Amino acid sequence: MKDTVLTIVVPCYNEEEILPETITCLQELLDELTAESLISDRSKILFVDDGSKDRTWEIIYKEGLKNKYVKGLKLARNVGHQNALLAGLEAARDLSDCVVSIDADLQDDIRVIREFMLKFHDGCEIVYGVRKSRETDTFFKRSTAQSFYKLMKGLGVDLVYNHADFRLMSQRAIKELDRFKEVNLFLRGIVPLIGFRSDVVYYDRLERKAGETKYPFKKMLAFAFDGITSFSISPIRFVLVIGFVSFLMSLAFGSYFLALKFLGATQTGWTSLITSIWLIGGLQLIAIGLIGEYVGKIYKEAKQRPKFIVDIDTFNLSVPKRQLLKRREEEFVYRKVSETGK
Ligand code: UDP
Ligand code: MG
Repeated sequence: MKDTVLTIVVPCYNEEEILPETITCLQELLDELTAESLISDRSKILFVDDGSKDRTWEIIYKEGLKNKYVKGLKLARNVGHQNALLAGLEAARDLSDCVVSIDADLQDDIRVIREFMLKFHDGCEIVYGVRKSRETDTFFKRSTAQSFYKLMKGLGVDLVYNHADFRLMSQRAIKELDRFKEVNLFLRGIVPLIGFRSDVVYYDRLERKAGETKYPFKKMLAFAFDGITSFSISPIRFVLVIGFVSFLMSLAFGSYFLALKFLGATQTGWTSLITSIWLIGGLQLIAIGLIGEYVGKIYKEAKQRPKFIVDIDTFNLSVPKRQLLKRREEEFVYRKVSETGK
């Protein structure tokens, strides 16, 4: 147990306000866990700077120079939470036995990581942190999130209820994750597909301590929509069913109107005509739009673009064959930081 190397991966986007506190809290936690012999003293915290526009990278880099726990991974530009997280997991993988991912705002209770480690030592390869309640969320966020999980379940996507991206994964699990090549990344949906022995730990989520949420409503909506269309073809089936039903209905109405005509009771109505044109037109547009959505996804996947590009990696510095190159990069960054004089 003493030589289990844990790496905590923290994606950060414009988090300068909270970062110093996050570093202190996580460092204390690692100290405690090491004292308890739950983890090795070679455990690390890997901060992934997701192309922040503020002093986030500077804080990470400078801290890394004096703090043995702190390592940094700087992405070349902002690629979003999920991709940043993946970048961190992949960078941390080779030198860690297990990796815990957590948001920089520490809304997730870090004391739970201790339980994660206990479960890991019991043989679990994936441990999900699950929120007990959503009291600290606004009513709006709570209800939209709840309906999202219900909808996903209804569509047949296997999500862990009320689990965000606070989880532990073993080295083996991350290696398998690497084999999921999709560009439309929705980790919450993919991780359960790996299927190694897993467990959940319940905790209370706190409020964001500083800074503001990087997930405004528009992003949340896009995230949910991506989640649905990346995992399920039910929407396409739904359109098919609607199309079928409307076809049957038009047959029924058609024969009804024909019968009326032959009985001589015709009231040729402009209203019914124009409504049906709109109805059919609408249905067709929905169908085309949905198909377009999937075609768009195929298009993106076909390109196989890299999901992130690493600028600087201070975590894997100790890997010998990369050492030279990295050291040059490090000197470069150091110069840049000292030039700005901060
Ligand atoms: N984040 C990121 N890239 C982005 C947006 C967010 O790395 O483009 C990080 C952010 O720094 C935080 C985590 O993702 O550590 C979750 O973001 P946030 O706390 O704003 O989301 P919320 O908890 O409000 O859903
Ligand atoms: Mg948050």
